Amino acid sequence: MSTLTNPKLESIYLEVVNRNPGEAEFHQAVREVLESLGPVLAKYPEFGQRKIIERICEPERQVIFRVPWQDDKGEVRINRAFRVQFNSALGPYKGGLRFHPSVYLGIIKFLGFEQIFKNALTGMPIGGGKGGSDFDPKGKSDDEIMRFCQSFMTELWRYLGEYIDVPAGDIGVGGREIGYLFGQYKRITTRYESGVLTGKGLGYGGSLVRREATGYGLVYFMDEMLKGRRQTIEGKTCVVSGSGNVAIYTIEKVQQLGGKVVACSDSNGYVHDEAGIDVELVKQLKEVERRRIKDYLKTRKDARYVEGGNIWEIPCQVALPCATQNELTGKDAAMLVKHGCIAVGEGANMPSTPEAVKVFLDHNVGFGPAKAANAGGVATSALEMQQNASRDSWTFDFTDHRLEDIMRNIYRTVEQTAEEYGTPGNYVNGANIAGFIRVAQAMVAMGLI
Ligand code: GLU
Repeated sequence: MSTLTNPKLESIYLEVVNRNPGEAEFHQAVREVLESLGPVLAKYPEFGQRKIIERICEPERQVIFRVPWQDDKGEVRINRAFRVQFNSALGPYKGGLRFHPSVYLGIIKFLGFEQIFKNALTGMPIGGGKGGSDFDPKGKSDDEIMRFCQSFMTELWRYLGEYIDVPAGDIGVGGREIGYLFGQYKRITTRYESGVLTGKGLGYGGSLVRREATGYGLVYFMDEMLKGRRQTIEGKTCVVSGSGNVAIYTIEKVQQLGGKVVACSDSNGYVHDEAGIDVELVKQLKEVERRRIKDYLKTRKDARYVEGGNIWEIPCQVALPCATQNELTGKDAAMLVKHGCIAVGEGANMPSTPEAVKVFLDHNVGFGPAKAANAGGVATSALEMQQNASRDSWTFDFTDHRLEDIMRNIYRTVEQTAEEYGTPGNYVNGANIAGFIRVAQAMVAMGLI
């Protein structure tokens, strides 16, 4: 890998690599942010003097704990779990929990680090954190999920609180898991503390639109970006990877705005449906029946399923990676460009490799980086916290408008910041710089913390 052009930033990066051996995804996330910060250090010398970057790269607190639980056969199982409380300059730590076998400290740290700047970009009073476990929810019964969640919360509760740290969902953690986690928190603490978790069910303090928020928000962001480039979503052929929460509501909103989504996927393969993905069918398969995307073909006979296939081979004008980190490589990016792709929006966290991002930027593809484009989920979590704090609940339309405003504003901030710092159209720089400055200024104001 080439060295960072700014020697100060290069030495900070090398120190991060040294202090956090083996955490490749964390190194990648840090490097990408540092690459944007040269001009910021020049403009704000106090950030250098106060060692803001060095401090931001070191989590405020990290908890690693054992989660013992029993499966349906009575067998004892042990998983490892994490909560990284990265930065609380702007508010209580906020960020999701991921349950997936690939989870280790490096994944949680990359996610937590990204979350700091994403949350800052929303303009809401939330710090950054992330957590999760290497527990694999795939194939587990409801009871097993409940027992795991209860054991997980039996350890984690003491580090949480509506003014301390507020988790939510991420991959493998949805409404069902949040329900079990909330129930156990309430039971242990004896507090009905609605604001301690977000993504709750609508019957016990959840917010309308939270379920749709990441996907809808991504499309509002992309729509605003396309407008700036004298384009619209309407009539565009789109490919959305994944078929989880983010992918489903991305597909739904693209279709509402007149775009056509022709493919989606899961970790086994992709479906290609020229007639347009039937999103209600995907919801039924994934949200209700928890089946594989392959089963889409049982109902939609004209669609095609490719086991182990690469979804980015399908020609499209707008690509929306909504599955997982590093799912879209430099080769994939080159293929998308060759096929006429004009815009890419990251619904997942860090789905494009650094090589892919470079291809997009070099070819003037409108590229919406995750920390800006997928901020709608956490922004709506902050709206859920507002409703909980005021013991109120807002209508769908009101909440959806708030989300839309936030996302269009994030786009404008990112676009203007990119321009101001001499890299017009580079929203990676725009997002990193705008998010960083907000956190850094709060840290300077609060002294050496
Ligand atoms: N996991 C989501 C994200 O990556 C949402 C976090 C939240 O709502 O706290 O931003």
